[in-house]
Order: sequence, then structure tokens, then C-alpha cells
Amino acid sequence: MTPTTGKKILLGLSLEQLTQLAEELGMPRFTGKQLAGWLYDKRVTTIEEMSNISKANRERLSELYEVGRSAPVTSELSKDGTRKYLFRVRSGGLVEAVFIPDGDRATLCISSQVGCKMDCLFCMTGKQGFKGNLSAGEIINQVLSVEESAELTNIVYMGMGEPLDNATNVLESIAVMTSSWGLAWSPKRITLSTVGVRRGLERFLSETSCHLAVSLHNPFHEGRLELMPAEGGLPLEQTLEMIRQADFTGQRRVSFEYIVFEGVNDSRAHAEELARLLRGIPCRINLIPFHQIPNVPLRPLAAAGMEQFKRWLEARGYTTTIRTSRGEDISAACGMLSTKEQMAEASASVS
Ligand code: SF4
Repeated sequence: MTPTTGKKILLGLSLEQLTQLAEELGMPRFTGKQLAGWLYDKRVTTIEEMSNISKANRERLSELYEVGRSAPVTSELSKDGTRKYLFRVRSGGLVEAVFIPDGDRATLCISSQVGCKMDCLFCMTGKQGFKGNLSAGEIINQVLSVEESAELTNIVYMGMGEPLDNATNVLESIAVMTSSWGLAWSPKRITLSTVGVRRGLERFLSETSCHLAVSLHNPFHEGRLELMPAEGGLPLEQTLEMIRQADFTGQRRVSFEYIVFEGVNDSRAHAEELARLLRGIPCRINLIPFHQIPNVPLRPLAAAGMEQFKRWLEARGYTTTIRTSRGEDISAACGMLSTKEQMAEASASVS
């Protein structure tokens, strides 16, 4: 429900839920299908626009529901075309979505939580703490409400929050994204990134066929634990075991994300252990340059070091890429723009 109107939100509901809702309100079953068409195909922002639903039924619906679309509150555009959006969600929190154009790809990176519980040492969102889960509708709203919505080719669940810590709502949003009654995207155009959350990962692997990206960052248990407390909940070895049980031999892909920090996880021993751990998993390794964040004693590795680390992995047979830094001139690190905005709001409220 929205705090301002007290109404419930239609966006994010499945065809089954919309049909049930219509029946509960004494409307024909097919109204559910009409609602899905208006929300996900025609992408209307008000119930009033749903012209093939009778006026009486639209009024009845409007007493209890609203569509749930909300425009971004602000955005920052980078010289390279990357645009970072900030959305306010119904709890009052702020989340980011980032549009990243790259040749014929147009990717949107979306958020799944306000803040995050996982507290990764290198992450600005982690520093905000956990403030709440996004509903499926709030996740879908990011996809529909950015300026470039119509031109998107790929979606990545790599924004604020750990998606599999909000598995039910994230999986519902994926169902809307990929169903024929929804946005009808191919699951092959969707990638979800996780640090590894057991129950959520089990569900994601069995209930979807979207691509998976695992935030790895250190192949050694103790070293990973220092960077990512989530290693204590689901150690990497167990995450990899779950991935080995799943089918990544066909079109579904798994990749491993590795932010390289100078003097922390950049040695030959790290590359060798990483190669040993991933043996037998058909995968790609993405090396990611670190975006420095305030008050964290981690430093990015210079380009030559990144190239060396890449060569070590390639020599062991792994397809390895170095991700190009995007949006360097805007608040590039995940959580940076929302943190800035929160600080501005806090200082405005005390001045
Ligand atoms: S990196 Fe991801 S999982 Fe870790 S704290 Fe940041 S948002 Fe959460």
C-alpha cells in the first residue's frame, strides 16, 4: 500500500493474482487478463486509462488500488552515456537504477532492496544498513519508468541489495519480466548477481532459467569472510556445489565477479586457487576495477596488475574479461548517489 493514498499496488501482480483480484471485486475473470495487458503491454500509469474495462469497474478498482508507477526523483548523466536514476520507494527509502549503453546492448542495472544486510566491506550500499525489501512492483517500476525503457536489451539484478535475500519478491518480478502475459522478456537477457544465500539460490536455480553471476572476490575462506561476512552464512565451496548440481551446459550461463583490490586478492596464489575452485564449471570470470569509496582501506589495482591477473586465469583455461569502468564522472559506486541524497536530505532537515 502507498503511505500517501493507502491504496494497494497493481504493478508486480501476476496474471493469476490479477484474475483472482478481479473475481474478488465481482468482475469477470477476463478482467485479470485485461489488467495484465494494460500494466505490462500498454504500460499505462493510471487505472483511468484502462478503457476496455467498464467505467464502474474502473471506479471500483480505483477505490482500492492504483497502478503503482513512480517516476525517478532525480538522475545523473555521465559523459559516456551511463545514467544513474534514483527512485523513492513506498517505505520512503531511495534506490538506484543505472542505464548502461554499450554498442548494441542497452542494460539496466536494478535494485532489489533499500540498503543491504550483507555488509560487504567494499560496498557503499552495505554501509547504509538494511532498510527494507522492494516489492515486485517496485522492482518492475524501475524497468518501466526509466527514460530508456523502450530500448532496453538486458536487465541485471546487480543494484542495491542482495536479490536472493528478497527472493520471493525478486522471483515474482522475474515472472512478470519473463511471462507472455507480462513483459515477455527472454530469461537469457536477465542476469541476477548474488553473494550466495542458500534458500534463495536454490529457488532461483530451480524456478528460473536466467543467468547467474556470483560475487566471489576472494577464493580463500578467511579472505572472503573479511571482505564479505555472507561467506559465514554460505561458504563459497557450498555455493559452488549448488552451481555444479544445476545445469549450466546449455544457454544458461554462470559468471564469477571478482573486484580486484591492490595487495588483498591480487596475487598469483589467489588466481591459482580461484582456478582450482572453479574447475569443471563452464563459466566466465569478470574482473572488476574497484571504485574507491570513503573511509574504506581498500585500493583499486592498477591496470597492469589487472592484466596480469587476467593472464594467470587465462593460462588456466578461463575466459576472463576486465569490465570497463562506466560512469566514472557521476556517483559510480553502487549506493553512492542514494547515500549522497540521504545526506543532503538529513542536512536539509537539521538546517
Ligand atoms: S555488494 Fe551487494 S550484497 Fe554486498 S553489501 Fe553491497 S549490495 Fe549488499
